[in-house]
Amino acid sequence: SSIYSYEALPVAEWFRRNRELAGFHNPARALYQTIRELVENSLDATETYGILPNIYIRVSIEDEQKGWASVYVEDNGIGIPGNEIPNVFGRVFYSSKYKIKQHRGVFGLGLKMVVLYSQSTTNKPVYVRSSTIKSDKIYEYQIMIDTNNNSPIILDRREYPNKYKWHGTAVKVYLEGNWPAAKKRIEDYLKRTAIIAPYAEIILKSPDLELWLKRRTTKLPPPPKEGLPHPKSVDVDTVKQMLLESRNMSLLEFLTENFDAVGEGTAKAFLEWAGFNPNTKTTALTPEEIVRLVEKMKQYEGWRRPRADWLSPVGSELLEIGAKAILGAEAVFAVTRKPESYSGHPFIVEVAVAWGGQIPPVDKPLLLRYANKIPLLYDEGADVARKIVDEFNWQNYKIKFPAPLAVITHICSTKIPYASAGKEAIAEVPEIEKEIRLALRDVAKKLRLYLSRKEKEMELLNKYIS
Ligand code: ADP
Ligand code: MG
Repeated sequence: SSIYSYEALPVAEWFRRNRELAGFHNPARALYQTIRELVENSLDATETYGILPNIYIRVSIEDEQKGWASVYVEDNGIGIPGNEIPNVFGRVFYSSKYKIKQHRGVFGLGLKMVVLYSQSTTNKPVYVRSSTIKSDKIYEYQIMIDTNNNSPIILDRREYPNKYKWHGTAVKVYLEGNWPAAKKRIEDYLKRTAIIAPYAEIILKSPDLELWLKRRTTKLPPPPKEGLPHPKSVDVDTVKQMLLESRNMSLLEFLTENFDAVGEGTAKAFLEWAGFNPNTKTTALTPEEIVRLVEKMKQYEGWRRPRADWLSPVGSELLEIGAKAILGAEAVFAVTRKPESYSGHPFIVEVAVAWGGQIPPVDKPLLLRYANKIPLLYDEGADVARKIVDEFNWQNYKIKFPAPLAVITHICSTKIPYASAGKEAIAEVPEIEKEIRLALRDVAKKLRLYLSRKEKEMELLNKYIS
């Protein structure tokens, strides 16, 4: 099923079928998901471009009778060009980009799902205000999606002079949303975001909860670079689309221009091995040949390893700052492993253990999971990290439960292997499992050293006193 088959489906129908997959199950989950989509876009639009994020969130109850709420999120990011705003908010499957780098957003669908849920429950437009860096204008729009034609309806459009050189984006949506039921999750989500992004300033205002998650450091992780996909990592649909968009070029040119780690020599060697003529034009390939080409690309062992420059791990220093500040831990030990890859996708695993302080004693370690800096709050039982942490031999590391112990796992990759469509749990990929295990061993050793030093100090102290 290619991405095209969706376009035949009216957008309203498509949303009705996919709304649960996208996290809009009910008014509580939808409110949480709306905040997530907007906050994650704000983080992408700031830190990825070297801007320290300032994110302001306001949740209001608009109509108690009808169960309507509103969500307002404002950031100081790079902004969205005025003429792009209608498409970014009002056209599903708008962008098609084959460049890859680590983002929180993956499918380019988040905003559209927010707008569709909002208008299907309240019939109100989304309000957007944005200005790009150095732009002398601020643009304001009210937009809905024409669900029959998959196109934006612009209800209002204004321009203002940008006197104070503001840059960023502000979005407001009305939706059926259950604030009391979503409150705890949203609070958890924002605190967990602050752990992994201690360089962000996040403020939440709501009817009965105010959060001010202060910036704890002005250090940002180095932003990811943007690159091309590895030949082992692409599927048939993607290659079909790439072939369609390639001008009528030879297979040799196609491979060298569209993929990472493929020079002319490598491409020639591969094509010979796979039984393709390097001069065959891309337009001449039959569907069967395309499938065979992709199969061979996956099987070939001669490619270089995928590059990890596209990734942006947080780093052990920032993880320690975040965990100490938000969890109130007595000690935190973190490690960032070296890049590895699975099926042509580069990934990096980071793990931290946090001990003592305000962490309550628990029977098994508290687990905070992240994927590409996004906190994962649901489906913990299905996550490979939960399995590894539970199987881990903690006695070897001087830890007896109940113990005040939290484990943080972070996987960054250009493709996160989710266990389910809900994108809340990491699947059991052997390469990733191995890295999590090794990382956990690293940090557990540091914790053991810390605990035995502390024990010795106590013994000394006791001797001295008695
Ligand atoms: P995704 O986040 O998966 O790319 P979205 O629908 O959430 O998909 O957003 C689409 C695009 O709109 C983003 O890739 C980004 O280019 C732009 N965008 C969304 N929100 C913001 C924002 N707050 N600031 C700047 N650009 C944004
Ligand atoms: Mg997004």
